[in-house]
Order: sequence, then C-alpha cells, then structure tokens
Amino acid sequence: MKRLPRMPSPVLQCGPHSYLTPKARLGSSRLGGKGLIAVAPIPRHELVAIWGNRVMTTAQLWALPAHLRDYPVQIWYDMFIGPMRDEEIEPVDYMNHSCEPNCGVRGSVVIVARRDIAPGEELTFDYGTTDTDRWVLECACGAPTCRGRMTGQDWRDAAFQARHAGYLSLYIEELIAHERQGRPLIGLPPHWSAPERLRGPRPQRPETQQSGG
Ligand SMILES: [Zn+2]
Repeated sequence: MKRLPRMPSPVLQCGPHSYLTPKARLGSSRLGGKGLIAVAPIPRHELVAIWGNRVMTTAQLWALPAHLRDYPVQIWYDMFIGPMRDEEIEPVDYMNHSCEPNCGVRGSVVIVARRDIAPGEELTFDYGTTDTDRWVLECACGAPTCRGRMTGQDWRDAAFQARHAGYLSLYIEELIAHERQGRPLIGLPPHWSAPERLRGPRPQRPETQQSGG
C-alpha cells in the first residue's frame, strides 16, 4: 500500500492527543534531560497545555516498562493519563516537577501559567498537586523552598494545600474536602476505596523527576 508523503505540519508542537502552547518548545532542562522551555512571554493565567493520551489505572501504570512509568500524570482516583509506549510520548509529557512551579493544573488535565513566564524559563508544575499514588521521589529541583523528599501524601499537608490553592487537581480538592468536612467522594471507580488505597505502603518510585509528569 502506497503511503502518503509526510507533510510539514503547522501543529508539530502538539502531539496527536494533547495541546502545548506554541510559546514553548521541547528543549534541554537545566536539571538535565528534556524539558519544556518558554520561547515567548507567557502571561499569568494563560493556557499552557492540555494533557491527553492513553487513560490507564494505577495497576496498568505500574505494569508499564520502568522507563515509561514516570510520564503518566494522575488525573483521578486510580486513573492516570499518558503514554503507554515510547512512540506515544508527546511534548507535554516532558513537563518537569518544581517545588516552586510556574504552571499549575486547573481541573484535571488543563495546565495554566501561575505567574508571568519569561522566554528561556522552563515550564514546571508540582507533581504533588496531581499525584496521590504511593510513590516517593527525592527532589533536587533547586528551588529555595524545595521540600526534598516528595510523596503522594504531600496534599495532606495544610501548608502545601495553602501554597497550591487553586492549582490542585480536582479530585485532590475533593479529597481535602472529604478529610476536612466529611463530604462524600464523587466519582470513585467501582470496587475501589480511596482511604484504603491512599494509606498503603509507599514503594520507591524508580525513576528520577527528569522524565516529565
Ligand atoms: Zn524540589
């Protein structure tokens, strides 16, 4: 079967399932590895990215080859979004963690600028604002407020909640309301208990923070 020639695409920035602002490019992270680098000023609150890709359960995430486990981002109780194969990795998957991030999540998959971002700055978000799965990561992001050891339990900390208010994944906001006010959780997967799952042991997550969400 004859294949069509590959045409230059005006949306090369975007993977086929996600959105990345044309004001950022895949480049070298100052922490080593790849990252997303601003190439134009991005004003506070502007749309930066929308995560899209394969949706998988926590069990499916942990069953991925080790080098792929670091890309998916948790978007809901027991649910992650991201690539499940090398060829499915998209530019947005390279957004790295910072304890003092310039971007943050709104809802579950929309990423916006938390402050004005200058060209040359790396776009970052805080993994603790999206992920509650049982993981531990030694952080060396270099931020003055770097908390060193990060875990999927960071959302429980009152200071963390205050610092990231407005930029916590929606299901985490619901978990916080559940803990504070006993509000019932909406949208739990069938046969899945949030409190039980969230308080289990925390195995070391094998990857570094270099490979994105
Ligand atoms: Zn840090």
